[in-house]
Amino acid sequence: MNFEAPAPCTVPEFGPHSRRRTRQVEIGGVRVGGNAPVVVQSMTNTDTSDVQSTAKQVAELWRAGSELVRITVNTAEAAAAVPRIRDRLAMQGIEVPLIGDFHYNGHQLLAGEPAAAEALAKYRINPGNVGFGKKKDLQFAQLIEFAIRYGKPVRIGANWGSLDQALAARLMDENAQRANPWDAGRVLREALIRSALDSADRAVELGLSADRIVLSAKVSGVQELVAVYRELATRGDYALHLGLTEAGIGSKGIVASSAALGLLLQEGIGDTIRISLTPEPGQSRTNEVIVAQELLQTMGLRAFTPMVTACPGCGRTTSTFFQELAQKVQAHVREKMPKWKITHPGAENLTLAVMGCVVNGPGESRHANIGISLPGIGEAPSAPVFEDGEKTVTLRGEHIADDFVGLIDRYVERRYGAASDAA
Ligand code: SF4
Repeated sequence: MNFEAPAPCTVPEFGPHSRRRTRQVEIGGVRVGGNAPVVVQSMTNTDTSDVQSTAKQVAELWRAGSELVRITVNTAEAAAAVPRIRDRLAMQGIEVPLIGDFHYNGHQLLAGEPAAAEALAKYRINPGNVGFGKKKDLQFAQLIEFAIRYGKPVRIGANWGSLDQALAARLMDENAQRANPWDAGRVLREALIRSALDSADRAVELGLSADRIVLSAKVSGVQELVAVYRELATRGDYALHLGLTEAGIGSKGIVASSAALGLLLQEGIGDTIRISLTPEPGQSRTNEVIVAQELLQTMGLRAFTPMVTACPGCGRTTSTFFQELAQKVQAHVREKMPKWKITHPGAENLTLAVMGCVVNGPGESRHANIGISLPGIGEAPSAPVFEDGEKTVTLRGEHIADDFVGLIDRYVERRYGAASDAA
C-alpha cells in the first residue's frame, strides 16, 4: 500500500521522542494510534467456554486498568460463550472491548457464531497459522471479510513462535542469492516483518480500511524486538501493538518487557502495549496490567495512579516500618484511585515519598507532593511530613501509618476535590 512516510521523530534533550504518527484505529470506543495515549491491554487465561470464570477475570483486568481485554476463541463452545461473557460484563456496568484471539479455525468459528463475530470489538489474526498450504490465502480472506461485514478492526499479529514457514523459506532462498547474504537471524526478522506488513497490505486489497488494522510482530528477545519494531515503524503507518512475547515469569518477565518496550516507547514507537507475564503460582493475572501502567507512568507517558517513591533502606535504618508504610500507602492509593478518578480527577498525578532516614528523607520528601521522612537509627522518634516542599507536621507515636494515610486523603480532597465540586 502507499503511505506517507512518518515525519522523522525529534530528539528532545529530555523525555521521550515525539510519538511516530500512525493511523488511528477505533476499537469498541477506545482509540489506538494517531494522537491517542498509549493504551494498556491484557489477556485472560481462563477457558473462554467457562463464561463465569472468564467474565470474572475480564472484570478483574478491567478494574486493574486494562482498557482492552483479549480472550481466546478456539472452539465452538468458546465462540458461543463470547456474547454471554459480553452480556454478563454489561450487567455489571463493564463495557470493556473484548478482542477475540483466533488461530487455525477463526474463519469457521466466526461463520458458525455470528453473535460472537458481532460481540467482539476486534479480531486478532496470526498470519503464521491462519491456515496452511493452499488454504492459507482463502482462510485469511474469509477472516478479513468477516471483519468488513461486521465493521470490526483486526490485529494482524505475527509471532516468532508461529512464523509463516513458507515465507521464511522463500526469504532464505532469496538471501542465498545475495552477493553478501544476511545472517539467518536478520532473514528471520525480515520474514516476521514481511509477514505482518504483507498481510496488512493484503487485507487492504481485500477491502479492509487501513484505519482498521493494528500490527504486531512479537519476539521473545529484547534486542530482536527493538530491531523488528524500528523496522515496522519505518516501513508503514499502521498502528502498532507492542509486546515481548513469552516474556517469562516474575522479575525476568518484568525486566525484559520493560527494557524492550521502554526503549521503543522512548523512540515514539508503540500505540498499545501488553506485558505478557507468566503469573507466578497463586499470583493475580492483574499484575501484567499494573506493570504496563507503571511502565507508562514512570516514563512520563501517562498517569494512572499516584506513585510512591521509597528508599531501599540501608544500615541507617534496620526497621522494616518504612517498607510496610510504603506498601500500605501504595495499596491505599491504588484502591482509592477508581473512585478518585471520578470524584477527584488529576489525583493520578499525585507523587508520594516514604523515606527511611534523615540522609535523603527530607530532600526526597520535598520533591513529592506529600512525603514523610521516618527516623533512622539514633534519630529522634519523629517523622516530619512535607507537603509541596514545606514541612507541615511531625508525626509521632504508634499511629504514624494511619495518620500519614489520612494526610494523603485530605491533600487529595483539598487539591483535587474542587473539580468534583464544580462538576
Ligand atoms: S534515606 Fe536513609 S535509610 Fe533510606 S537508603 Fe538513604 S540513607 Fe538509607
